[in-house]
Amino acid sequence: MSPRIHIAVSAAVQEALATIIRRDERTVESYWSHPDCPVLVFADHKLPGASVSFHGGPIGTGLPIQLIYWGGWWKSAAGAARRAMINDRTQRLINSEYFSELTQYGIDRPTWRDPALICTKPYPPSSFTNKEEPHVVRDLIDHLIDDDVFPDPDDGRIAFVVLMPEGFKETIGDNGQHTSDFDQDFLDRDYYWVAWIRYFADPPTDDPENTIRTLSHELVEMFTDPEADAWYVGSPEGGEIGDAAQSPGDYQTALVNGARASAYWSNRHAATVIPIDRDYKARIRGAISVTARRTVSRVFRPDPAENRLCSIVPECCFEDRDYAYTLVSRDESVSLRMETLRYYSPVAAWTINGRAVSGKGSITVRVIAETFTGRATSYTQRDVSLGYDATDSTITLAAVKLDANFDVEVGCSVNTALLRNGFGTLSPVEATIVIAELFTIGFLILRLAVHLFRYGSIQYSSKLSIAGTFRKRSTPAGK
Ligand SMILES: [Zn+2]
Repeated sequence: MSPRIHIAVSAAVQEALATIIRRDERTVESYWSHPDCPVLVFADHKLPGASVSFHGGPIGTGLPIQLIYWGGWWKSAAGAARRAMINDRTQRLINSEYFSELTQYGIDRPTWRDPALICTKPYPPSSFTNKEEPHVVRDLIDHLIDDDVFPDPDDGRIAFVVLMPEGFKETIGDNGQHTSDFDQDFLDRDYYWVAWIRYFADPPTDDPENTIRTLSHELVEMFTDPEADAWYVGSPEGGEIGDAAQSPGDYQTALVNGARASAYWSNRHAATVIPIDRDYKARIRGAISVTARRTVSRVFRPDPAENRLCSIVPECCFEDRDYAYTLVSRDESVSLRMETLRYYSPVAAWTINGRAVSGKGSITVRVIAETFTGRATSYTQRDVSLGYDATDSTITLAAVKLDANFDVEVGCSVNTALLRNGFGTLSPVEATIVIAELFTIGFLILRLAVHLFRYGSIQYSSKLSIAGTFRKRSTPAGK
């Protein structure tokens, strides 16, 4: 009897149903499974309406994103480290599926415009204390276009993002804004689009990664409503797609390709969404070990029926005497370990025959138990008690002195800490980006071993067939 281990993977997923078994080492390994959840859909939102509609203005499709770091601080060691983080996260977003739901608004994914710029003159403002002051950001872009640092907007639109330096404060209640203005060149009026992002200090008061939350919010709004006359509902202040991404008291975010991104409104889902990475995956690897072994020696007499071929095939004759056999009974332990890719701080939730388990304990499960009655296999329903030890990434199951073969189903679903905020508003499936796997693990506990004294030791997996044994041992007739 060989180890019976197979997996069935639950609805969400499915690539393969088989487990690779390396019998000699008694290890098991499943194929990678992927969640079927490319988009997080949030259950609540703050959109002041049921959908955003198009108001006829321009949109920003496939724009290059130009980051501009404003002020000399960005050249300091701390500033350089912060720049590296923001450059990295922004490119991670561009290289992810994050912007993919904007295609419903006619917008292709943006690109990265190299290099990001540090701008020390004019000096950056130290604060915004009223709604008028942010005009200095528009003036900065106007100035840079006039100086030919950037091309005339006619020659290709750019999504400008200006990042404020350490020390910058705002008291106008905005983490950032996106706006537009125009550059007047004789009769030529060229609009340019720019967002500014405030400085985010270190924890515990603040978190630099929230720079990206605001940056992604302003970008998706700049693309869909750059001049406050394209996609919004109600008014452009508060009715753009990024503004909808709030749950009570919190922003809706998720890690996308390692960047903390804001949710945005999707008409198609009638909800705020975050397209996530397609390469989440998980698998389970494990090993089975024998922890104890007992043998029972018994004897049997052949049935008359087993001798019925004797008159025709001499090899099928055998003596009517006692034959010895042994039942080898073993205690087994199964250790399974979850392996994941992409998950941020993954946590496994384990079930045994559908019941959740955590920590150490024992569980009684009803199984169909295979045992040997004499030389024959029989099956009965039986309650068996299994010991378990479940952690965030592993589970060990132990069967002790059960003297039966049976299957139990071990379920594993992978949860992730990638979601911040809005967590409780997601349905469980969406919130966990779940990969649920169900393993059916066969505990192999009994083995019938028959030793025919005359022919040495032979092991059988089912009812002993003496005739078959003899045939196996007979030499083929030569010709
Ligand atoms: Zn907004």
